[in-house]
Amino acid sequence: RETVLDVRDLVKHFPVRQGALRRTVGLLKAVDGVSLELRRGETLGIVGESGCGKSTLAKLLTAHERPTSGRVTVLGRSLHDLRGGELRRARRHVQLIFQDPYTSLDPRMTVAATVREPYDVNPDLAPRGDRDRLVRELLEAVGLNPDHGGRYPHELSGGQRQRVGIARALALRPEVLVCDEPVSALDVSVQAQIVNLLEELRERFSLAYVFIAHDLSVVRHLADRVAVMYLGKVVETGSEAEVYESAAHPYTRALLSAAPVPDPAARGTRQEIVLDGEPPSPVDPPSGCSFHPRCFMAEDGCARSAPVLEPVAGAGHLVSCHLARHPGGDGP
Ligand code: SF4
Ligand code: MG
Repeated sequence: RETVLDVRDLVKHFPVRQGALRRTVGLLKAVDGVSLELRRGETLGIVGESGCGKSTLAKLLTAHERPTSGRVTVLGRSLHDLRGGELRRARRHVQLIFQDPYTSLDPRMTVAATVREPYDVNPDLAPRGDRDRLVRELLEAVGLNPDHGGRYPHELSGGQRQRVGIARALALRPEVLVCDEPVSALDVSVQAQIVNLLEELRERFSLAYVFIAHDLSVVRHLADRVAVMYLGKVVETGSEAEVYESAAHPYTRALLSAAPVPDPAARGTRQEIVLDGEPPSPVDPPSGCSFHPRCFMAEDGCARSAPVLEPVAGAGHLVSCHLARHPGGDGP
């Protein structure tokens, strides 16, 4: 299948300034060398605690932020090399679904006007005479009543607002939706409805998703592949089965052990791993492996040298840990 999104060595560092002179006193390494690939129709789940750089990554992928270095390539074209109309057309292919449907919609715009706006900004998308019909079709596709297009965001529930945001993104006929914790602001009962809707839309429109969450259990259902982030870096990535059934990084294992187990019979067989404390600040992260202060497997060398992503058993299963069993390596 065709690669729709290719990300190489993406870095985003923010200067940290202090004092009256706003002197730079450090670097916040929000995204620190991330590479990803996404094929048509595929879903990549990205998981990590808050502050790990997930939202910055989402903004870089959708060109809402410019990287410090590295590349984002959309359908074979590097966003870096594009300007003006070409850049606008390339950006259209990768749309961001925001976490908070309460703040991402303009309160003064009706539902229909919100979904229609992309056509006004990109007139070549659809002839003027077709737009009302297209807006109705999009509202229907996301499970909203097309006759309620005259309503305002404050008249809608959280789930309905998220549906409006999705319809608006679909108006641009994207290849990829980057969903930044799209359900975490919603009631639990509504979360499954939105996840099911995304699944349905993926088939219908051949979409690929980058689905970001802070909890591994949320992405499991949708994801074909998963990447686990810690302090701006991917520490483990692989197929859904590789990550959930053969997690090799201690951080992934800790996240999995913290997730609720649906089957109580399976509970006893699982090792409980407690993650101590909050992740450290991405400003001046710990030396060596940045996970070492919280790692239950850490050894002396872990604070000195930083591991890199390397294949474990399967070719697509990569882990960044000195003690993971890399083929040919000398892990435990
Ligand atoms: Fe833990 Fe060391 Fe592996 Fe880092 S390299 S995850 S500290 S065992
Ligand atoms: Mg976030």
